[in-house]
This record gives sequence, C-alpha cells and structure tokens, in this order.
Amino acid sequence: TERVFGGLRKTSERLGENLSGIVSKTRLDDAQLDEIEDALILSDLGPRAAARIRERLANEKFERGADEQSIKEAVAEEIAKILRPVAKPIDIVAFPRPQVILVIGVNGSGKTTTIAKLAHYFQELDYGVMLAAGDTFRAAAIGQLKVWADRVGVPIVTGPEGGDPASIVFDAVKTATDQGIDALIVDTAGRLQNKRELMDELAKIRRVLGRLNPEAPHDVVLVLDATNGQNALQQIETFKEVAGVTGLIMTKLDGTARGGVLVAAAEQYGLPIHAIGVGERLDDLRPFDPDLVARVIA
Ligand code: GDP
Repeated sequence: TERVFGGLRKTSERLGENLSGIVSKTRLDDAQLDEIEDALILSDLGPRAAARIRERLANEKFERGADEQSIKEAVAEEIAKILRPVAKPIDIVAFPRPQVILVIGVNGSGKTTTIAKLAHYFQELDYGVMLAAGDTFRAAAIGQLKVWADRVGVPIVTGPEGGDPASIVFDAVKTATDQGIDALIVDTAGRLQNKRELMDELAKIRRVLGRLNPEAPHDVVLVLDATNGQNALQQIETFKEVAGVTGLIMTKLDGTARGGVLVAAAEQYGLPIHAIGVGERLDDLRPFDPDLVARVIA
C-alpha cells in the first residue's frame, strides 16, 4: 500500500501543478486578439501575417491579467518566427569568380546608394569589388554611380548614355575576370513604367551573362523603399515576374513607421532578406537581424 500511495501522491502533486497552471494562466480573449490583429495590419504587416500571428497568440497561455509587456514580447516572438527563416546575408561563394550581383528596383528606391553600401560592405570583408553601370537610361545614373565608386574606392565599368546595358555587363565581367575581382555589382535601369522594355533589357543581360558563366547572375537583389509600405509588395510581385528575384534589401527604415512591410514581404514571398538600409551614408547598411527587427516593430 505504501508504494501505491507513494505513486498516487506523486500523481496528485503533478495534477495539482497542472491545475494551478490552468487557474493562473489564461488565453487572450477575442476582443484582445482583434485589437492585436488590427494593430498589426495598421503597422503594415499585412492581413496574412497579422492573421497568422493572431492565430498563434490565440493558442498561447498568458499569466492572468497579462501586462502589455508580456503580450508585446509574445508578438515580437511571433514576428521573429516569420523573419528568422528569411534572414540571409549575401555570401561571396561563386566559383569561378566573379560573383555577379544584379541590382534591380524602381528609381528612387535607393538602388544607387545601396550598390555603394554593398560595395563598401564587401570591401570591408576584403573582397575585390567592381561596379558596372548598367542603367544607361537615366542621364544622371552613370555619373552618380561613378561618384559613389570613387568614394568607395572601387573600379567601375561604364558605357555611353543610351548605350546597350548588356554590352557593358559583358565588358565588366571580362574585366572583372581578368582582374580577379570577387564581386561584380551591376546597376540596372529601374523603369517599371515600361515593363516590356525592362524585361527585354534584363533578359538580354541574362543571356550575355549566361554565355560567360552559366551560373550568372548569382544574385538578383531587389531594392525596396520601406516608406512605400504595401506598394513595396506590389513591386516584389512585378519584379519577380520581370526579372526573377533572389533576395531583397529594404531601404529607408530609418525615419519610417512602415517597417512592418518587412514582415509582410517575408510572410508572403519568403524571399531572403539580405540587409536593411538605415540612412544615406556608406555604413548605413545593416545585416538583417530578425530578432532585433521584431523587437523594434512590436
Ligand atoms: P535610386 O534612384 O534608386 O538609385 O536611389 P538613390 O540611391 O539615388 O536614393 C534616392 C534617395 O534616397 C537619396 O537621397 C538617398 O540618399 C536616399 N536613401 C537611400 N537609401 C536610404 C536609406 O536607407 N535611408 C535614408 N534615409 N535615405 C536613403
């Protein structure tokens, strides 16, 4: 009998623990969940991510009378769960070199600045970097990129305004190969107004690249302006179709309340997020840290 009672006592203790868990913990009610979901949508996380987070929170137990802080922490954790799988820096791994990184995005998104920041970032890692001025459509684009190349201290291959971007890319890859360059970063025209032409232009660049190295381009990085909020998502959709996107860099996350769009993008497209832009200077490109971003957003 002693053995039976001993066993039961343990059972009773365990049941007690579980029961006390039920009494002291509770689920959020529908009104609270509604409020959280609305807040997430208003913060540009989009309806899908908001619904997913709501669903997960609905299954979670909180201390009775849970304070704002613990709910915030739970939201941050759910956001981090969405972001963690897409956090992925660009690694220079191409063999043979160079790794060809096409950078695409609408004008004004911060594309030129981001190219300069990336060049600076790779240079700090001791990689040999070269730029190619493949946006020959905008008068100022070539000049601007040249200024940045000088500032960073990397070589740049350019052609005439209105010239053929594919032939510039061809020259650039040959030069980069001869010089043992590790990363060739290619600027491209961002005129989404004329989708057909842009598509043809990018397809031609791809054909030329493919002839030189079947693996190229190794990366097709779409630069998005976070201040565009949900419109940035539409741009992902379009550029995926026009150019085939392998990863994202979100700019202008300083001074915008629309960082939630990162979560919407991650939830909806699952594309790697390489980095974020947090200012206009060369060192204002930050690795994408999902936990940090989640804490800041929530
Ligand atoms: P592009 O037309 O896409 O090549 O865009 P630019 O690189 O010329 O950038 C457009 C404007 O956005 C410039 O004034 C940049 O200084 C600014 N910009 C770019 N990235 C960032 C960023 O991360 N934060 C802020 N605040 N401004 C940025």
